[in-house]
Amino acid sequence: MAAVRKLLLPIGLLLGAAAFALLYYRVDPTQAAWMPRCPFRLLTGLQCPACGNQRALHALLNGHLADAFAFNPFFLLSLPYLAALVVAAVLRRRHPGPYRRLAHPRVVMAYVVLICLWWVLRNII
Ligand SMILES: [Zn+2]
Repeated sequence: MAAVRKLLLPIGLLLGAAAFALLYYRVDPTQAAWMPRCPFRLLTGLQCPACGNQRALHALLNGHLADAFAFNPFFLLSLPYLAALVVAAVLRRRHPGPYRRLAHPRVVMAYVVLICLWWVLRNII
């Protein structure tokens, strides 16, 4: 029973990620009025760091890498780090080293600084 309980979180995460991926594979956010819109952009007219992520994910899941990059290059470039962070978080009890390095405050702070730089740059260039 304990072994089953240990697998619930990874299985739940996998199922959730699969459902999320299927949704964004099938639904084009530009065509679906019910998909969420960016509140920051609606209020200010400026792009937030995540603007274009939905469109980029849809394009990426449909094999259109160049389109995904055009919608939000920072998102695309962040995916390896974010994916590694999620995997390391799931496996951290058995293998704490990778998670400790990926979630180290200096690494996270560097990522936050990059997000802020991207936020500014995408609105001035
Ligand atoms: Zn936005």
